[in-house]
Amino acid sequence: MEKDRVLLRTEGIFKQFNGVTVLDDVNLEIKYGEVHALMGENGAGKSTIIKIITGVYAKDGGDVFVDGEVVAINNRQDARARGISVIYQELSLVPALTVTENIFLGQEIEHRGLLSKKKMRESVRALIGKYAFEIDPDAVVDSLSMAQRQMVEILKALSMDAKLIIMDEPTSSLSAAESEKLFDTIDGLREKGAGILYVSHRLEEVYRLSDRLTVMRDGRIVAVLDRSEINAKTVTTLMIGREPRESRARSGRDLFKDNYLEVKHLSYGKLLKDVSFTAYGGEILGIGGLVGSGRTELVRCIYGAAKQDGGEILFNGRPVSKRIAKNIRMGFGLVPEDRRVEGFIPVQSIEKNIAIASHDRLSRLGIVNARKETRWAEDAIQNYDIRPKNRHMPVANLSGGNQQKVVLGRWLSRDPKLLLLDEPTVGVDVGVKADLYDFMRKLAQSGAIIIMVSSDLFELTHISDRILVMHGGRFFEEFTHDNASQTSVLLAASGEHTEEGRAL
Ligand code: ADP
Ligand code: MG
Repeated sequence: MEKDRVLLRTEGIFKQFNGVTVLDDVNLEIKYGEVHALMGENGAGKSTIIKIITGVYAKDGGDVFVDGEVVAINNRQDARARGISVIYQELSLVPALTVTENIFLGQEIEHRGLLSKKKMRESVRALIGKYAFEIDPDAVVDSLSMAQRQMVEILKALSMDAKLIIMDEPTSSLSAAESEKLFDTIDGLREKGAGILYVSHRLEEVYRLSDRLTVMRDGRIVAVLDRSEINAKTVTTLMIGREPRESRARSGRDLFKDNYLEVKHLSYGKLLKDVSFTAYGGEILGIGGLVGSGRTELVRCIYGAAKQDGGEILFNGRPVSKRIAKNIRMGFGLVPEDRRVEGFIPVQSIEKNIAIASHDRLSRLGIVNARKETRWAEDAIQNYDIRPKNRHMPVANLSGGNQQKVVLGRWLSRDPKLLLLDEPTVGVDVGVKADLYDFMRKLAQSGAIIIMVSSDLFELTHISDRILVMHGGRFFEEFTHDNASQTSVLLAASGEHTEEGRAL
């Protein structure tokens, strides 16, 4: 694979759904050896152009060129034959099979005849060696982390000789550490000359990874930027086209001044420096900032899961304990960033996972009352519409959205006074997202303090009543619900002062 040569090009792609134009004159170009990012707001047409390139949808006009030649891609097999492969958000692996078995699933029958197990394993081993992946070809997929599963998907693509690998929001269900591993993998693929088309709505990832960036808006390409031209202001303005100034007026929310959290001069290693703020019952306080800006450490210190080096945390005037159990009894709850590691016990049932934080209310003399526990769980399943409605179901078997409902339901069923949320909707489908926001609003209206760390700019600017943006371990700017735009929040997170924000 020869770097810098054009791998794939589209010319004048046109597509309508039910008479509505969703792609108009799309000219996309991806070279060998480049990570090409594709950004755009929801509905811009990113997934549709990908589906056309990969033969899922038929185009209504235009041409696709691979290696300079017009090609007809009418189905997935055509795409595969041209070396084009997609890694989908919802991974398509069979958990009970091994890495090797998954990689060859389908292929053995489709175009390899019957391959011996030994040969399959050898060829997987060779690929793993070539790309320096850290993965055991004999591991059962069920035992792998999300990042490793994604590696298996990538290996699967490589085993089919993919030269263009398309990733549609691949990090949406990964933790920060797992994402970092994926980025290393992507670097390796680029090094070997593959082309990568990378769809993301996270600018920091695009900064980290991409050689070029194509921005789409309303079905058109509005710009192709070189690495050096990529910056928050340019990209956001291109994506949105204008400042999102739609009216977001809301009935002024009452603050409950007798329920409050004060953080004074908090410091924690190099991550938090002299952080001070007060949050009141009745408000959803959003905390913005880039990944690694200290937000997770902040909520962990408040919860008692991390111990600050300096400063004070006061809840209703009294110092907060360093013991999590005590804080939970006072009404604290935390929905952690990586729910699969810290949020729930995957092999345990919905019931156990919900009741786990409420043993204080469900037991006598240290023994949990099984009937009470069951009723507690049934109520939560009902109130928060957790699906399936089966309290015995292991949480590992639920969708991302329902897993998060379990983690949130555990706290909501206790009527918490302070709820800390760290990236609460990562990997959660749209429908469930709306439910989660609804629960948060209701909880705030009942007088609780909600502190929400989020990297999702839409969520941050639409759901929060007030936003504090961190930069380099400090609070940098404060926004109100009404003056916060996605652009200005992103700028502040990148360390640039804005007109709308109040400098801190
Ligand atoms: P993005 O991936 O950038 O969020 P999409 O490509 O999914 O955007 O969607 C672009 C537009 O096409 C949207 O308005 C969406 O509603 C519409 N669309 C996508 N797929 C279909 C479909 N199968 N039928 C009808 N409309 C669709
Ligand atoms: Mg999409």
